[in-house]
Amino acid sequence: MADKRFREFVRHCEKWRKRLWLGAWDIVYEPVEKIDDGPANSDTYTSLAETETVADYLNATVRFRVPPRGRGTLPSIEHIACHEMVHILLATYTDFVVSAIDHAHESDRAQLKERHDEAKERTVTYLERILMARRTA
Ligand SMILES: [Zn+2]
Repeated sequence: MADKRFREFVRHCEKWRKRLWLGAWDIVYEPVEKIDDGPANSDTYTSLAETETVADYLNATVRFRVPPRGRGTLPSIEHIACHEMVHILLATYTDFVVSAIDHAHESDRAQLKERHDEAKERTVTYLERILMARRTA
């Protein structure tokens, strides 16, 4: 069953990859038991999937944790897939911010990273909702 939902996730990702003109990217999809940075036992985007990018080489790894069934209101698998593809769409910019933070004073890095992560998630979620609301088929 988990396999089936992972395949469904990849299928939606590939559909959104085409819509967002991300054809030049090399994307690897991995099913995982747990998302490292995700809050434990919550079913938010950040605990269901994560995307790592190297924008300079157009490489991305998308990890997906199959959500448990029947607990609260999960985002749909298509929402999660669209969300992760938007992360890739913005990767040139977000990777730049991450490298700028690496050059910041060490005492500032943790706070800058936290603020960037929050701003990035809000922006990606906002764009994902607009895209999902306007999708056809
Ligand atoms: Zn996200």
